Amino acid sequence: MGDIATNGKKKSYYDCVDCPAYCCSVYDRVQVTPRDIRRLAKHFGVTDEVATAKFTKVWGKERVLRRKKDILFAETCQFINTETRGCTIYDARPAVCREFPTTKRCAYYDLLSFEREQQDDPKVIPLVKITFKK
Ligand code: SF4
Ligand code: SF4
Repeated sequence: MGDIATNGKKKSYYDCVDCPAYCCSVYDRVQVTPRDIRRLAKHFGVTDEVATAKFTKVWGKERVLRRKKDILFAETCQFINTETRGCTIYDARPAVCREFPTTKRCAYYDLLSFEREQQDDPKVIPLVKITFKK
């Protein structure tokens, strides 16, 4: 969620700038911790209570970011710029966004690259939906 091909510390094989923000869109839950809420509150100049109510909601036993309708996917994170596909709160994004993906490769970026090559179209965007079966 917001890294680039070479982040200066370790080499990675994805470029978020070239991606429609799959990770911000295909997951229903982007978990937020009390520390994330404090960071959001500071960023927007509001109290933790206001940030909690305005930007988050409860999902089962978790607190997660609120989402909004999207023009590409059914829904996406409320903080995505739906035109540029960039995060509008990059410096204040939650910890899970900073950590994703935890590997050198991003499976979504691999899919994007694969389909662009297969379709011979550098602009094509494969739309994916992820569900989990237990
Ligand atoms: S899906 Fe992967 S490449 Fe796309 S924004 Fe997220 S981390 Fe970056
Ligand atoms: S806070 Fe930013 S990086 Fe995290 S899911 Fe939302 S748009 Fe993506």
